[in-house]
Amino acid sequence: MSSHTGSRFAADVYGDRLERAVELMRAAHLDALLITPGPDLRYLIGSAAQSFERLTCLVIPADGATPSVVIPKMELAGLEASAAGELGLTVLDWVDGVDPYQLVKSTLHVGSRVAVTEVMPALHLLPLAESATGLPVSATPVLRELRMTKDAAEVDALRRAGAAIDRVHARMGEFLRAGRTEAEVGADIAAAIVEEGHLEAAFVIVGSGPHGADPHHGMSERVIESGDVVVIDIGGPVDPGYYSDSTRTYAIGTPKPAIAEQIAVLERAQAASVAAVRPGVTAESVDAAGRQLLAEAGLGDAFVHRTGHGIGLSVHEDPYIVEGNDLVLKAGMAFSIEPGIYFRGDWGARIEDIVVVTEDGCESMNNRPHGLTVL
Ligand code: ZN
Ligand code: ZN
Repeated sequence: MSSHTGSRFAADVYGDRLERAVELMRAAHLDALLITPGPDLRYLIGSAAQSFERLTCLVIPADGATPSVVIPKMELAGLEASAAGELGLTVLDWVDGVDPYQLVKSTLHVGSRVAVTEVMPALHLLPLAESATGLPVSATPVLRELRMTKDAAEVDALRRAGAAIDRVHARMGEFLRAGRTEAEVGADIAAAIVEEGHLEAAFVIVGSGPHGADPHHGMSERVIESGDVVVIDIGGPVDPGYYSDSTRTYAIGTPKPAIAEQIAVLERAQAASVAAVRPGVTAESVDAAGRQLLAEAGLGDAFVHRTGHGIGLSVHEDPYIVEGNDLVLKAGMAFSIEPGIYFRGDWGARIEDIVVVTEDGCESMNNRPHGLTVL
């Protein structure tokens, strides 16, 4: 897959993020951050570089010196074409035969306390620890603080992603009907995800009938039947790398009244959690709002996972909306609200929106009807 260098945020957005990273690093008593390709690198310098066996690594020193990028010479063009090319970074390019880990070491003071991105492959972490840094700590506490609260441009990207996946759900009647396999339906949905403005289809779940009871079912050769309830959970990234993620539950023909009633309770539970979102409340209180409603209806045991996950440049990131997370929500945080009910061997349902915390509540990125849609 090639790098996406099409649209991006202005260079000063990344300059601000690098400055804030330095502030947080100092507060955490760290001397340098080492960031290999992945969402952290994309967040900090706008580079969608991929991780290979050849080392690419951004080094951000806490002393305020210019950050450096250690990068294979053959990858330089991609870096320069991205926002990173406008940031005035010190480029330390290398060719095969050179030890890039020594190049990283050359940017660090002896005894530096170093933190690394959590997605750094062991392939790079181990030689870095050996030759350059000693055993590093995780940069996630610093990056989580930065990435968890989205700025206006990021919220706009999430809004575009949400509208694009809503358009795919709006077309579900074109794809989903009795007599087709989950895989056939899924292939059409994946194509529609791209047609409606995503860079790619990152995931497509078509959970029909009993498969709907498995929250992480992908798709299979099962033929969809009249009377099935079908869970469709889909998403992908839009430029510059922000993800959509939305689930709706469909019925093929009129469902049994008991099933429709239980899905109506799920709809109320999902709405209750969305209504609980505002600045100053805890993540776990949002989980509890919907869970309590399901429990009161006798469906507590059918809801077998957390209510939601943060989203942005990764599909799953902080904050997690889960019991035990007393993180206090702030305006700009973005996450899913996706309660589900699952009956093993029988059927399942899930309803999922991405919401962004506003000054007095939240804005939903997804606006399709939430209840059971009969096709
Ligand atoms: Zn989902
Ligand atoms: Zn999700």
